[in-house]
Amino acid sequence: MLNLILFGPPGSGKGTQAAKLVEKYNLMHISTGDMFRYEIGNSTELGQLAKSYMDQGQLVPDSVTISMLRKRVEDNPGVAGIIFDGFPRTVAQAEALDELLADMGTSINGLVALDVPDDEITQRILLRGQSSGRSDDNDEATIRKRIDEYNNKTTPVFDHYAKYGKSMKINGLGSIEDIFGRLCEAIDNL
Ligand code: ADP
Repeated sequence: MLNLILFGPPGSGKGTQAAKLVEKYNLMHISTGDMFRYEIGNSTELGQLAKSYMDQGQLVPDSVTISMLRKRVEDNPGVAGIIFDGFPRTVAQAEALDELLADMGTSINGLVALDVPDDEITQRILLRGQSSGRSDDNDEATIRKRIDEYNNKTTPVFDHYAKYGKSMKINGLGSIEDIFGRLCEAIDNL
């Protein structure tokens, strides 16, 4: 399997690039943010719980996120590989993911981080908020909180995989095609 983590702050372009990578490398795309929004759209109990955190710019608790992720992976055996987008966002999530993949006889091949400065991502998210319909994209205080959560809880995930020589940083500024080219080059050299 080819298992990749697409990493980077909110608004760094993970979703856009994931869609292109999925096509090129024939991978299954798992976005925990999309999964939560699907649950919210269906007014499930899980959706309501997730929304209470997302609207505050906070991470959804690990126990909830990990069990949802585990089920999605276990429900899709036999895929060529998986691109994880927006997961893992804490070291506990990374450890749970490593364990889950080890049980399946596989592992993470690499983590590619899109490097985009804070002021640029705030602008991108506000712009996206004009059309995304996402309440967490419209409020500057919520965006700031998401960036704080990323800096405090999520950046250690980069170091977790760096310990195994698996983390790479990619310049996330430029055109969608330029960034895609850089990502493919990094992945092809794994
Ligand atoms: P973005 O990367 O722009 O923040 P996402 O769709 O990945 O967008 O995430 C939106 C929100 O969903 C996050 O702010 C968080 O509240 C929640 N979320 C998504 N993935 C996770 C995760 N792995 N762990 C905890 N919360 C998550």
